[in-house]
Amino acid sequence: MKEQWRIHRLLLATVQYPDWHPRTGVGPVYGFAIAGPGGYVLYDTGIGPPHPTIDRLYSPTRYQVDRVLRRTGLPAVPMAIVLSHLHFDHCGNVAQFPGVPTFVQAREWAAAQEEGYTIREFFDAPGMDFRRVDGMAAVTPGIEAIATPGHTPGHQSLAISTMTGLEVIGGQAAETVEDWERHIAGDETGLSEEARQSLNTLAAIDPRAVHFSHDDRVWSR
Ligand SMILES: [Zn+2]
Repeated sequence: MKEQWRIHRLLLATVQYPDWHPRTGVGPVYGFAIAGPGGYVLYDTGIGPPHPTIDRLYSPTRYQVDRVLRRTGLPAVPMAIVLSHLHFDHCGNVAQFPGVPTFVQAREWAAAQEEGYTIREFFDAPGMDFRRVDGMAAVTPGIEAIATPGHTPGHQSLAISTMTGLEVIGGQAAETVEDWERHIAGDETGLSEEARQSLNTLAAIDPRAVHFSHDDRVWSR
């Protein structure tokens, strides 16, 4: 039998983008819980605990991941975690889940060793069970991690088998629905070659829907 998963989008924070940032105004930070009969996989964990630099630059409003999961009717502990990348707004709070297999691309892990890349203490915590993977990785039957470098060197997305077909959680492989649509229409998007190839990889899955980390809309075919 084919595994069927259901995607819950979780609003984990909003941020106020600073002036120098390519984005403007207030924007959402989403994580996702992909639930099936035996549990759920958590994709991204939002912004970590209060931090002077993050709070000064982004004035975040945080919605605690444990509370959001409870309100969604999910158990406290996921069966696995997939981190799209290790920027502060995607891996914060992951330290709340020691012992849970946590998938991160090896290239991302390497990039995050550099000073200033992220807030290290958000993910570098005792008892973590990081699984460093290269490229494709079967997280569990019906949920596959796919390397989609571009936004960061080791960004990854998910392909998910749902009741209505294959869906993709793009994360930040594309910022918005418009970016994705421009790409599939073959228009110039100003993306790097690597980012373009990553979107080609996702488009080749022929997903019926694509979800994004920072866009409150879902693209549907
Ligand atoms: Zn982000």
